[in-house]
Amino acid sequence: MAPDPSAHRTIHLSDYIPIVGEPEIAEIRTMASRVQGQTVQMVNSTAVGGGVAEILNCMIPMFQDLGIPVRWDVITGGNDFFEVTKAFHNALHGGPYNGRPENFEIFLSYNEQNRQRLPLDSSLVVIHDPQPLPLIDGRRNHASHWLWRCHIDLSRPNPIVWKFLEPFVVRYDGAIFSSPSFTHQLPIPQYLSFPCIDPLSAKNQDLDDAQIHAVLERFGIDPQRPILAQISRFDRLKDPLGVVKAYRLVRNYFDCQLVLAGGGATDDPEGGAVLAEVREAAGPDPDIHILDLPPWSAIEINALQRASTVVIQKSLREGFGLTVTEALWKKKPVVASAVGGIPLQVIHKHTGLLVHSVEGAAYQIRFLLSNPGLAARLGEQGHEHVRESFLMTSNLKRYLAILLHLLKSH
Ligand code: UDP
Repeated sequence: MAPDPSAHRTIHLSDYIPIVGEPEIAEIRTMASRVQGQTVQMVNSTAVGGGVAEILNCMIPMFQDLGIPVRWDVITGGNDFFEVTKAFHNALHGGPYNGRPENFEIFLSYNEQNRQRLPLDSSLVVIHDPQPLPLIDGRRNHASHWLWRCHIDLSRPNPIVWKFLEPFVVRYDGAIFSSPSFTHQLPIPQYLSFPCIDPLSAKNQDLDDAQIHAVLERFGIDPQRPILAQISRFDRLKDPLGVVKAYRLVRNYFDCQLVLAGGGATDDPEGGAVLAEVREAAGPDPDIHILDLPPWSAIEINALQRASTVVIQKSLREGFGLTVTEALWKKKPVVASAVGGIPLQVIHKHTGLLVHSVEGAAYQIRFLLSNPGLAARLGEQGHEHVRESFLMTSNLKRYLAILLHLLKSH
């Protein structure tokens, strides 16, 4: 399915002035004026679900508002392709890899089909994550610029998968990573860019109490008792079972509820199995709410995050963790694992609390439930941290800066 950029909501950068200030928007417009005549193309592997789709849904209309022609293409593939790419994803995050030898063939043949189908002729082509990496074979015009935007933690990749992918990576003009610690020894320039959220999207805009309560009522969640929530795809690397264990430890001391809400992504075939494991672990506890949400649940997720007393992100590995960014923006106290890009966002005891185990998570959740004043302060400081570093206008500025740099160096 190819998302149609014209189908996206219209964005006016001027609407962000009250949030980020006039000078920031003026700077973006000046930078954009220097890249007029250039065209931009983003390619990834899913139109909905997961952080990359979330970012592109906002980034595309922002480029449009700047008058820069932009297109967004989603590669297609069968289940066999996405099983292979999920195995690659887990392995690049440092996990084991037990794939069959024909996996590499499956990966290449779907990429070849996509290469033949997609026009890859923009002046800046940004390939997101490993799934479409071999599309670099489609580079025809050497005046164009190709970047690999890697959203995952590549600091300790499984060597089998990395050895296969690296020859594609080194043919790009540069790679963009979400954290300095994710970078890898590469012979091409590496750029840093933080993933970001759109404060004006349905997922993050302000909601009033009535809207929040309507969502709680729909899902049978009690607004009177504390709500612990983790909003994430049902993915083992997000450790939903660890969240259930932490909740049970907290329940010994506090009468609270747990919300585990998430949907699938079209490029993640493991979601159904993980959801079944979570349901089994939760058992008949009426205070555990497992919500399998459809992709159009932005308002629901927004309301659940706002209704939460504590937001948890107990990932075992993480790219950046936009769910953390979203919670911080909503001034929520966050208890999150010190993995991937999370420590860039959760500065321990300043914008949230970092943990390393189920017991640690339970301890910190209890600590926050007992100290609402501190919880509120962490939330306020988290909000300011996101305003300074993780709003979509910064991401846009970063792309423009990299494009300007590439244009100058050719
Ligand atoms: N998300 C969603 N529906 C879900 C689960 C997650 O819209 O059922 C969104 C979530 O709000 C966030 C993004 O998907 O914006 C997840 O990004 P993150 O970086 O946290 O994790 P990823 O899924 O990319 O590993």
